[in-house]
Amino acid sequence: MRVVIAGGGLAGLACAKYLVDMGHQPILLERSNVLGGLVAAWKDADGDWVETGLHNFFGAYPNMLQLMGELNILDRLQWKRHALIFNQPEKPGVLSWFDVPDLPAPFNIIISILRNNDMLTWNQKIRFAIGLIPAIVRGDKYVASMDKYTFEEWLQLHGIGKDITTDIFIAVCKSLKFIDPDVISATIPLRALNKFLQQKDGSKIAYLDGAPPERLCQPIVDYVVARGGEVHTGVALKEIVTNADGNVEKLIVQGTDGTLSREIYADAYVSAMSVDAFKNYIPANWQALPYFQQLDNLEGVPVISVQLWFDRKLTDIDHTLFSRSPLLSVYSDMSNSCKEYADPDKSMLELVFAPAADWIDRPNSDIIDATLSELAKLFPQHLPSPAKVLKSHVVKTRHSIYTATPNREQFRPQQITPIANFFLSGSYTAQPFFGSMEGAVLSGKLTAQEIHNASLNASKSSGSKVLGRTSNQNQSNPSVVSA
Ligand SMILES: Cc1cc2nc3c(=O)[nH]c(=O)nc-3n(C[C@H](O)[C@H](O)[C@H](O)COP(=O)(O)OP(=O)(O)OC[C@H]3O[C@@H](n4cnc5c(N)ncnc54)[C@H](O)[C@@H]3O)c2cc1C
Repeated sequence: MRVVIAGGGLAGLACAKYLVDMGHQPILLERSNVLGGLVAAWKDADGDWVETGLHNFFGAYPNMLQLMGELNILDRLQWKRHALIFNQPEKPGVLSWFDVPDLPAPFNIIISILRNNDMLTWNQKIRFAIGLIPAIVRGDKYVASMDKYTFEEWLQLHGIGKDITTDIFIAVCKSLKFIDPDVISATIPLRALNKFLQQKDGSKIAYLDGAPPERLCQPIVDYVVARGGEVHTGVALKEIVTNADGNVEKLIVQGTDGTLSREIYADAYVSAMSVDAFKNYIPANWQALPYFQQLDNLEGVPVISVQLWFDRKLTDIDHTLFSRSPLLSVYSDMSNSCKEYADPDKSMLELVFAPAADWIDRPNSDIIDATLSELAKLFPQHLPSPAKVLKSHVVKTRHSIYTATPNREQFRPQQITPIANFFLSGSYTAQPFFGSMEGAVLSGKLTAQEIHNASLNASKSSGSKVLGRTSNQNQSNPSVVSA
């Protein structure tokens, strides 16, 4: 089957990859000139990479690791020491390590928590461990049922005071979803913890050895194109045109360089755009369907990424750090952590600035000033002087991953839709890894599987692989027709 996919983030790319594996022909269209969506990156005038955001891979990402294995690029992951590292703003320059010993799960995580005396009292450790028992025993069913609470409410229900929230979980929640514990759904941190508790290397962090478009997206493109698929950048979906049955008849697309609109026909169509982008293209005759109406309950969360190049080394830590400060979330010195960005003499900090709702419309200079004043507390020996900022980049994403507040999970759509020849993909769609790279890859795989199943069912029932196409449509089905 010929399948058109609108959106070239990791979900759209993974969907294309698994479609070619199942013998179909994907035609992927990405609006931007660079692939990757939320993992996109581009070079500035000096040839330095500017990234949409700092990205960590985890041992608990089975689908991402499988995909990279199938592409033969697993060696591009640089695994770090098995630990989580927190700044201690009250003890400037001193780090607190949760070192995870080489023992079976969940003992390795439990021991790492028990051994850390900087951030948790024994009373807090015991109460938290008791609170986690239902999650460990009853698993994901319990975790999913906690979506009605914020994480702060869940902690209070288990007698764990606000101090532990301040100490650890503001940093953890901001790094997972770019929002604070008093607004995030309890399901999110509990599910992350549960995955870490189930798998020995689940919480182990890896960095890609360079910029995602070249080191991760391009191998997927090469794989897809070598097997008969197509990938086009700079081509945006403009309209989904439906036929009398309500199925998709064709897409109208347009080059972002202003070229004329074109019509594209296929056997199946996929939106792998973000939920916010897709909502702009839902045809009028689909809008009353509950499946599409539920999307009104999902919205991307704002986040800001900051990159700062310094004239000297600020740290030699080769890892992710949780800043535990009001505006920053996680950060890394990429001159130590990423092979392609390595520099023995100068630091390049990449930082996630969140929650960003109050900052997304502020000038970049305000965001840099606020970042530097928080960094001055973390690196008092270097900032505000003598270290100098050589240059900076700020990337604002107004709508990133879906905002994971309580009661959102029920509105995440399945990949299969009520429209016979139309499917959704994206990390916001229903899958257990919420808004993450792993979630995006898994959603792409699930979408490809649904399309394949639909084609098998269609050929079983009618002897044809056509999904929801009316008889008067062009059966020779040219993939791209100039208007
Ligand atoms: C700052 C930041 C840090 C993050 N850190 C991590 C991390 O450490 N670990 C982790 O696992 N995840 C992380 N994530 C989340 C992860 O990046 C996303 O969950 C994942 O990349 C989403 O992929 P996607 O394909 O579902 O969506 P997207 O990446 O949003 O892709 C959608 C694509 O659709 C395209 N599109 C939109 N409109 C159109 C149109 N009209 N026509 C054609 N194409 C269109 C967009 O340009 C985009 O390329 C982070 C995200 C951000 C923003």
